[in-house]
Amino acid sequence: MTDRKVRVRFAPSPTGPLHIGGVRTALYNYLFARQHGGELVFRIEDTDSSRFVPGAEEYIIESFRWLGIRFDEGVGIGGPHGPYRQSERRDIYRRYVERLLDEGKAYVAFDTPEELNARRTAEANFQYDATTRASMRNSLTMPADEVRRRIDAGEQYVVRFKVEPGEDVHVDDIIRGDVKINSSILDDKVLYKSADDLPTYHLANIVDDHLMEITHVIRGEEWLPSAPLHVLLYRAFGWEDTMPRFAHLPLLLKPDGKGKLSKRDGDRLGFPVFPLEWHDPKTGDVSPGYRESGYLPEAVVNFLALLGWNPGTEQEILSMDDLVRLFDLAKCSKAGARFDYVKGLWFNKEYILMTDNARLAPELDRILRQNGIEEPMERVEAVVGMMKMKKINFIRELWPLCDFFFRAPQTYSMDDKFVSKNWKEGTADEMRRLATLLAGLDGFDVESQRAAVDAWAEEQGVRPWNAWRVCLVGTGKGPDMYELAAFLGREETLARMHRAIDILG
Ligand code: GLU
Repeated sequence: MTDRKVRVRFAPSPTGPLHIGGVRTALYNYLFARQHGGELVFRIEDTDSSRFVPGAEEYIIESFRWLGIRFDEGVGIGGPHGPYRQSERRDIYRRYVERLLDEGKAYVAFDTPEELNARRTAEANFQYDATTRASMRNSLTMPADEVRRRIDAGEQYVVRFKVEPGEDVHVDDIIRGDVKINSSILDDKVLYKSADDLPTYHLANIVDDHLMEITHVIRGEEWLPSAPLHVLLYRAFGWEDTMPRFAHLPLLLKPDGKGKLSKRDGDRLGFPVFPLEWHDPKTGDVSPGYRESGYLPEAVVNFLALLGWNPGTEQEILSMDDLVRLFDLAKCSKAGARFDYVKGLWFNKEYILMTDNARLAPELDRILRQNGIEEPMERVEAVVGMMKMKKINFIRELWPLCDFFFRAPQTYSMDDKFVSKNWKEGTADEMRRLATLLAGLDGFDVESQRAAVDAWAEEQGVRPWNAWRVCLVGTGKGPDMYELAAFLGREETLARMHRAIDILG
């Protein structure tokens, strides 16, 4: 058992867009697999056809492509344990259901939903288990030939797992330690439904974990209540020796820490809870995604990695390779992790500063085009380089800060504080002389300008930069003046200066 190759899986149900908590689960599985030289399987758990949502599977695949979380085998990739979509594995599950029935570890039940509801209303704490199963309509209470006859006549039935009461079931959880639960509180879970000839989540999940040679089940805390049943099923099949170790990850909590994070928190406070924008095929509603909101995937990964785990140092900026090296499943917290979306903004700001301008430029280019501005990508890239130091959370925030690169100031007005403070008696004349100097320079690059203008300012005892900024920008914002003038070029620089001189006098 100890020398088994690490194999983990991410096994979403395609019931809608992937929630950000699911992304964190997949990320932790990915980190764990990579740091152990193991494999990560991508399985689709679609045995509940009533909850199937078209497009969800494609959405999930695209989300991980964007985030850089790669699977080694599974849906869309292939591999030796396929098919990886549970709805395509009916024949396999049927065999295992038969086996439990043959060995008397499961039984057939004919109780209709109405009958079950009637019992639930009549008895406050009704559960289908060792004490009640003898009073229900199932193969334990009916003669074998009657059971056969009903099945042959096409009557619908389910197969239930026969839980033996009064036994302590231990779940070996890497994060939570030994979790003990008494089997008497478990009900005889439905494992299979004849109506759609499909197993339920519980059976399909553990049969696949076994067949796919999964060594560690790393999943959200919401699945912890299922774990004792899964342990019992493993034992019923005689698979104790290859039972995976469990790790149930802490819940993601609302930003204020009270209760589970929900989509409504995102809507209320203005942050996405999905990796990509999601268009609901039924309602047509559009929910925001991290990608479309302007987050860098590396920032999202870094942010999520630290929700429930930390490296035990002050270091917060961690690349995927750092995370693979440092991540420690056993050091995940048991307590829920507060979803501090403001921290997510901080990560994005930091990653924008660290990211190549060439990768950031297309986003600004898109916004420029929306504003009717078409510029060669090198120029857009140059502006990103000059402006990203401004502590922006998103590239789109650059547009109001950098419009002057692409269009001359619309007005020059003394109503602007920066203008009235820096445009005085004599400024127009000073700007005229500066313009003459610039017009006569051999080169117009940053260094030629800096050498000439600094020397001229020194000799004249003037400080022309703020007024010059008024000419080129119209107000007090923007980068270093020499960088700006070099970007605009000599002709545009002089044109803006003369226009400002005319208007402000
Ligand atoms: N299909 C379950 C889900 O939607 C998987 C739970 C598990 O990992 O066992 O998350």
